[in-house]
Amino acid sequence: MPAPMLQGLRIRVRGQVQGVGFRPFVWQLATTMDLRGEVLNDPEGVLILVCGDDLTRFAEALRHNVPPLARVDAIEVEPWSFAEPPAEFSIAVSRGSGALTRVTPDAATCPDCLAELRGAGRRRGYAFANCTHCGPRFSILRGLPYDRAQTSMAGFAMCPSCRAEYHNPADRRFHAQPIACPDCGPRLWFESEGTACEGDAIALAAAALREGRIIAIKGLGGFHLACDAMNASAVALLRARKRRPAKSFALMGHEAMIARHCHLSEAGLARLRSPAAPVVLLPRYSLTLPDDVAPGLSVLGWMLPYTPLHHLLLDSFDGPLVMTSGNRSGEPQVIGNAEARTKLSGFADGFLMHDRDIVRRLDDSVERADPPMILRRARGHVPGTMPLPPGFKGCGEITAYGGQAKSTICRIKADQALVSHHLGDLDDAATWEEFLRADADYAALFDHRAVAVACDLHEGYRATRYALGLGRPVIRVQHHHAHLASCLGDNLWPLDAGPVAGIILDGLGLGSDGTLWGGEVLLGDYRGFVRITHLRPAPLPGGDHASAQPWRSALTRLDQAGLAAEADRHFPAQPRVLLRQAIAAGINAPLTSSAGRLFDAVAALLGLCPYEQSYEGEAAMRLEAIATSGHTPFGFGQSAGLIDPAPMLLALMAARPTTPAPILSSRFHAGLAQAFCAPARSLVENGQAKAVALSGGCFQNAVLLEDCLAALQGLPVLVHRDIPANDGGLALGQALIAAAGRC
Ligand code: ZN
Ligand code: ZN
Ligand code: FE
Repeated sequence: MPAPMLQGLRIRVRGQVQGVGFRPFVWQLATTMDLRGEVLNDPEGVLILVCGDDLTRFAEALRHNVPPLARVDAIEVEPWSFAEPPAEFSIAVSRGSGALTRVTPDAATCPDCLAELRGAGRRRGYAFANCTHCGPRFSILRGLPYDRAQTSMAGFAMCPSCRAEYHNPADRRFHAQPIACPDCGPRLWFESEGTACEGDAIALAAAALREGRIIAIKGLGGFHLACDAMNASAVALLRARKRRPAKSFALMGHEAMIARHCHLSEAGLARLRSPAAPVVLLPRYSLTLPDDVAPGLSVLGWMLPYTPLHHLLLDSFDGPLVMTSGNRSGEPQVIGNAEARTKLSGFADGFLMHDRDIVRRLDDSVERADPPMILRRARGHVPGTMPLPPGFKGCGEITAYGGQAKSTICRIKADQALVSHHLGDLDDAATWEEFLRADADYAALFDHRAVAVACDLHEGYRATRYALGLGRPVIRVQHHHAHLASCLGDNLWPLDAGPVAGIILDGLGLGSDGTLWGGEVLLGDYRGFVRITHLRPAPLPGGDHASAQPWRSALTRLDQAGLAAEADRHFPAQPRVLLRQAIAAGINAPLTSSAGRLFDAVAALLGLCPYEQSYEGEAAMRLEAIATSGHTPFGFGQSAGLIDPAPMLLALMAARPTTPAPILSSRFHAGLAQAFCAPARSLVENGQAKAVALSGGCFQNAVLLEDCLAALQGLPVLVHRDIPANDGGLALGQALIAAAGRC
């Protein structure tokens, strides 16, 4: 008679569980509990077959103390019979390949590696220390499966000590693919005028920074340009060389350095310390840093050092650094050594270089803590996937190509959505090439074959023309409908949960009626929408280019409000006559309901960059920066289907001579919020909508967001968190709308 089968459990773990030390975690847990069986990676995640005593406690323990980079989506447990009783607990060879195998995002140096860096061991002072819980991942990946041979560590043969760590399941470097040490790993050098300098690279770089020089630093996802943030002339020199007059610079510093300049909330600290180590926007409270770091803004963007190289440099330099992306204006960030020498030599006095290739260009992610929102998803977040909301099962594989600015690509497969890293503005030729490369790259990584593609209505968008040329079924999605769906998806709003009132305050997007939209209340969901009300349209003389010159929006809005004389008085030197003639003749003056342009108009009337914005959103950001809270909102006109800013402008111009600009700004923000929240509230209260969703680029503005949340108090409100409210979120919205049509 055959021996009875041994009973045990088959445990399936789903989520981000590969390449994060999950198998050694399971091995250690099982070994400590004296269990037998095996753990392995397969295309669905981690699979555990286990027998012994107290299996329930084991299955329960799997949920706790998981490795820091792991994200467990589901644990499924079922009985399992062993034909042969296993002798021990082992880590078995991976099975299957491809499709759903996850690659994890890059992660900031962990506390253990940091201690090693500063300790006495063999990795003391080593700029490339990493382990299973931290270090480069996606940025060094050439292809799948994720192992050393498929990364830019392939050329570095492991020394015996590293090899021993790599194969020891009890070591935190077990199967850490980028494992390295000074004997076998990448090396660092400092070069100046084309030659590598003798001596300690970190010390040389720190000395150059102390002298007020600008240094190019090869980081994780690209090069940065760095200078001493406390040195006003170094900051001014960097601005002059980069021809970047006003856009804020990101900063890097230790927590104590940050706390000297900005208010650090619990939430802000948590974001800074997260493995993604993003740039976090924090309210500044002192002017101890040169104002030139972020002219006219009330927040500074800080990140903590996130690689051993950064830690060593900051320890040596001992002060905050400007760390702005190393690129020529408008182009993608430089990643190669040779490319850096060519493109950045005009900016940098020296280069802190190394010989580990950056395979994937990944900008720093940008986040806001209060209220929480990811504004730019890149390094540390990609290629993380997000689950689809309930109801989308089996919609098939879909690709969505997003908008023109802040471009991203979204792929849907197997109930997950993968949003690409921030690609940039597709007007730029080099960024367009990056877009094409990313499309092919994510398709290969995700083993993705789209049955349908989605894009914007606007044929002036490169991504739209590209999608139309692919020869596959195309779903064309109205820009602000995509914003709405993106917000729904970010909140896992179920497919059949009913319509919401979407307040979409945005820059410009092509509307279904051929005009440019951007200040709407939509009623709808993933399947469709109706436009309930919108900002009264005004001409945008000069079309897209008018966006750069806020006075144009101010003039048309004043004219519309019957305040043409005020416009003449405010902008005496501008070509007003020509502009008005063009508008009257309907030449290159499309109508727009854009809220972004209304922000420009009000900023210009308060004297904030009226003639030219040096970067997109400058006028609106400055208007936000000066706003103080708690003032009576300016009233807007409300009639059937129209929100009219004329009454607001009349009141603003009347108050302007006697009221400080910060109060006027506050009253404008609160008035705009009220004007859009009132109709949205009615839709919920009369039962037509289940909730209010806030989306569009204007919701990067924390003052506007807070004002809307206050105006919507008591109602369910959906706000962006993990997916940007700006055009970086369009691709997700388009993909979900296309998917909804196939469910
Ligand atoms: Zn580590
Ligand atoms: Zn080694
Ligand atoms: Fe938009």
